[in-house]
Amino acid sequence: MTREKDRSPRGPTERTLVGAALRAGYRAASRLLYGRGDYADWAYERMQRPASAVAMAGNMALRAARVPRVTSFVSMAIEPAFQCNLRCRTCRGRYDMEGLRPKLMPWELFRRAVDEAPPSVESVVFAMAGEPLLNPRLPEMIDHVAASGRRALLVTNGTLLDGEVADRVARSRLSVLTMSVETDAEMARQVRGVDHEELRRKLERFAARKHPLTALKLSVVAHPENEHRLGRLWEEFAGLVEDIKVSPCISLEEAGSRTTCTEPWRGNLCVFTSGDVTPCCFDLRGDLSFGNLNDRRFDEILAGPGVTRVLSMFTSGPMADRCARCHQFLSPHLPRRISR
Ligand code: SF4
Repeated sequence: MTREKDRSPRGPTERTLVGAALRAGYRAASRLLYGRGDYADWAYERMQRPASAVAMAGNMALRAARVPRVTSFVSMAIEPAFQCNLRCRTCRGRYDMEGLRPKLMPWELFRRAVDEAPPSVESVVFAMAGEPLLNPRLPEMIDHVAASGRRALLVTNGTLLDGEVADRVARSRLSVLTMSVETDAEMARQVRGVDHEELRRKLERFAARKHPLTALKLSVVAHPENEHRLGRLWEEFAGLVEDIKVSPCISLEEAGSRTTCTEPWRGNLCVFTSGDVTPCCFDLRGDLSFGNLNDRRFDEILAGPGVTRVLSMFTSGPMADRCARCHQFLSPHLPRRISR
């Protein structure tokens, strides 16, 4: 594939029978694992190679058989910043994360994560516990990922997507920009403390400047206050974005015991600013760390005992305290977020 084609999540593959088959397969898997087909687009965004779909099917089979390993890793999430300019009630505003790990990902650590990642990793998403645009080198990071032959995806709260920063991201080789929003102006003010209309204007300005192959999407975290307002987003953003991902809110407060979770078998590697490599972006304290990139190379971490040790927590226990406290907002109107 050419570099230009690599940028697009709706590239040539989708217009072929293979692309259509992959999407159909992801819809079926989404229904099976999460109760609805909503996550098919998200899966296709990250896995457009047939080999990735085969690897994911193998991973899910291992999970069903309760085998504590994965066939291969297909995607990676990188944390450019462990700091945020917002304190949303559905996210960071609920937790004290001060001092847990470095506020910015060092460039050398980032470069090693991308350069040493397994060749099976086909997409890299910039996201996790902080706002990625707070890292001044994010546009360079995007281009480094694209130069490695992988698709670069960005999830941002959108508040900083303006001026020179927005211009640099628009000029980068980004495949997908997902803006995380609330359902409407009232919820945006109450939950996030942001101006919903201003975010929309920023997205419109970015849309006018972006490369034609950079896709725009929205994501929204559903919670009891907004679950009946979700339809408003499609009405408001129709024609501007091509998909809206709805994810139920995750809560860490409730204690309890859990038997298993699909997350560690998704074939996704999360790299924190600390260098910890874990299978779950909700793993705030690195309890599920496979190992640390400051200590060892990526291939050594993935071949070492860490992967089996962590996945064994889900097959034979004991569960990490973090996972035992992990709950999601459940509603018949919403897809599940954590398949168990
Ligand atoms: S139980 Fe929660 S914290 Fe643990 S791996 Fe699953 S999603 Fe992540």
